[in-house]
Amino acid sequence: MIHPQTELKLINKEMGYGVFATTFIPKGTILYAKDPLEIEVSPAQYESMETGLKEIVYKYAYIDERGMRIVSWDFARYVNHRCECNSMTTGYGFEIAIKDIEPGEEITDEYGLLNIEEAMPLACTCQHCRHVVTPQDIDLYYPTWDAKIKEALSCLGQVEQPLLKYLDSQTEAELRGYLIGEAEYRSVINLKYGLPVAV
Ligand SMILES: [Zn+2]
Repeated sequence: MIHPQTELKLINKEMGYGVFATTFIPKGTILYAKDPLEIEVSPAQYESMETGLKEIVYKYAYIDERGMRIVSWDFARYVNHRCECNSMTTGYGFEIAIKDIEPGEEITDEYGLLNIEEAMPLACTCQHCRHVVTPQDIDLYYPTWDAKIKEALSCLGQVEQPLLKYLDSQTEAELRGYLIGEAEYRSVINLKYGLPVAV
C-alpha cells in the first residue's frame, strides 16, 4: 500500500504515470508497506502463467527477499526510478522517505533494490545518472544505500506513520529491536540474498 497522501498522475505519453505527494511528507515516513492485499506470485505460478498476464507481472512486480513477485493492488506499482530518489526499499521490505518530500513532488525509488532480473535502461535525467540499472547494482551500492536508510530510520519515530500498522508483526518486532538497539540492522543486501521461497 502506498502512503495515503499521494496521487497517481500522468507525466507524459513517453514516461507514463508517476506517483506524487499531495502534502509535505517528512524524511523517515514509511511510503510503502507490503499489506495483506498485495498479490503474491510464486516462481512456479509465474512460470506457468499465460503470456499476457506474465508480461503484466514482469512489468509491475518487484521481487521480494523470498523470490516472490509482488504486484501492488494500488498505484504503488507506478512509482518510477530515479538514481537520486527520495524513497528507498529497506531490508525490512517497506519503503521509507530518505529526504523530505514537498507537496507535488514525484515519489521515486531505487529499482536496484527490487531484484530486477535483467539490466534496464533508464529514462531519468539525474545529475549523476547511472543510465542503466542492473541486478548487480545492489552488490556495489548497498553500503551507500544502507547509510541513507539508517539515517531515515533514525527519524521514523518522530514523524506521522499511517502505514506502520500494515507491517507484519515479525517485521515490526525486528524494526523495533533495531531502533532500541537490541537487534542488528537488517541490510538491504538481504533483499537479494534472503532465503528463496519453496516453489
Ligand atoms: Zn538516473
